[in-house]
Amino acid sequence: MTNNEDFLDEIGDNHIATNAKNPLRSDAFDISDDQKIELIKKDVESILKTLGMDLTDDSLKGTPNRVAKMFVKEIFGGLNPAKKPSASTFENNYKYGEMLVEKNITLYSTCEHHLLPIIGRAHVAYISNGKVVGLSKMNRIVEYFAKRPQVQERLTMQIVQELQKVLNTEDVACVIDAKHLCVNSRGIKDIESSTITSEFGGKFKNEATRREFLDYIKFDTQF
Ligand SMILES: [Zn+2]
Repeated sequence: MTNNEDFLDEIGDNHIATNAKNPLRSDAFDISDDQKIELIKKDVESILKTLGMDLTDDSLKGTPNRVAKMFVKEIFGGLNPAKKPSASTFENNYKYGEMLVEKNITLYSTCEHHLLPIIGRAHVAYISNGKVVGLSKMNRIVEYFAKRPQVQERLTMQIVQELQKVLNTEDVACVIDAKHLCVNSRGIKDIESSTITSEFGGKFKNEATRREFLDYIKFDTQF
């Protein structure tokens, strides 16, 4: 099964410790999503109880189950390789040879150090090597890797590496500009600051190509 092989690749002993892989245990998917929801529900209950919350209150009754489902099915759903977007590509029949940029992709992720939201925009570009992907595929790849406990640097690299694999070319780039609520709403409480990360593969390491990409993402699209 391809998904399982991808998964084993990802969590291979050599990879777990590298920055580009999420630190998953090898038994991460030995239990089902439903079993995880049951366990996490109890854990959330325990946290709220310890904080002194009254879980018999109608407003709080459903919270442990709601949070558990949200973790497993939504905000951390991208940990499961079975949910990876399909890798279908098309031949570049129209021989478009310039860069394609998908900009302002909405990004919601979660900081793995505080479990607080990362909110921002991803901008992705590639130069076709004979294969093209549907435009929404880039949004889906961003979404898939974002739905994990993440660090922004890793997320940026994972998006580029996945598109490089799918498109069979090194010529892929990604810039992410995002706010981390662990910085904006607590700790230093700097609401204005945002974090920019970038990964430039292949031709995008070339100064002129990189500049062209960065100029495009500054376009103020009107519609
Ligand atoms: Zn954080």
